[in-house]
This record gives sequence, structure tokens and C-alpha cells, in this order.
Amino acid sequence: MIISCPHCHKGNRVPIERVSQKPACGVCSKDLLSLPISPGEEAFHELIKHSSLPIIVDFWAPWCGPCKMFAPTFQASAGSHANQVIHIKVDTELHPSLGGQFNIRSIPTLVCFKNGKEVERVSGALPQQQLKQFIDRLIVR
Ligand SMILES: [Zn+2]
Repeated sequence: MIISCPHCHKGNRVPIERVSQKPACGVCSKDLLSLPISPGEEAFHELIKHSSLPIIVDFWAPWCGPCKMFAPTFQASAGSHANQVIHIKVDTELHPSLGGQFNIRSIPTLVCFKNGKEVERVSGALPQQQLKQFIDRLIVR
């Protein structure tokens, strides 16, 4: 699976079983999972199905004001849950098939996955504290 480094944007080959082992970028050595990642569709499905870490996905679009306002909150959350919860951003304009497949009707929508299954979703830009509670629930469940 190829994950583009969210820091330097170079593609890194990461075997799925290594996502829980604090994967670092081969180019800039920063933690790959300390910022939101934007995988291609193939890597997205592999992560959702086989990741041993819980995943939170932000379905967004470039034209959506609330999505843009929410972006720094989501980014900060990725930093504070680095290597613990994988934060993924899906641009629904770039990947309409993913938006369709997961039945995304409004954006932003956050969808959580654990052990290959969707466990929870919420629509709307959550304030920081609510996002933290949402993710804390994901970690313990
Ligand atoms: Zn890098």
C-alpha cells in the first residue's frame, strides 16, 4: 500500500501490518500518521478493511466552508492521536465513488472504522472538545 507522506508528500510503501508500528517517512523521517493522510482508493480500502488501528475519516469537499473551518481541528486531532488513531481525509469531489459507497449525504461527515467495520458516524463540523470525546469513544469501544 502506498501512503503519501502528509509532511513532504513523497509516496511511501507501507505494508498494512506495519501501520501500528509508528511508520515513518523514508524521505523526511517524520511520522506518517501524525497528520491526516489522503490515500488513494486502493489504499483507502486496504486501510479500512485491515488496519489494526482505529480509523476516523473526514469526508469533505474543497467548496465546503464548514469543511475548511473544521480542517485545523481535524489536523490537531491527528497530531494528538499520532500512531494511535489513523486520520484520513477523503475529498469527495476527487473520489465521488467513495462518497457514494459510504452513502455520504452531507459534508463534512466523520465516519469511524474499527476492525474492518463502520462503528459510528456524525455529520457536521465538530468543535474540538466534541471531536476528542468522539475519538475517545472510538478508542475504548
Ligand atoms: Zn515525508
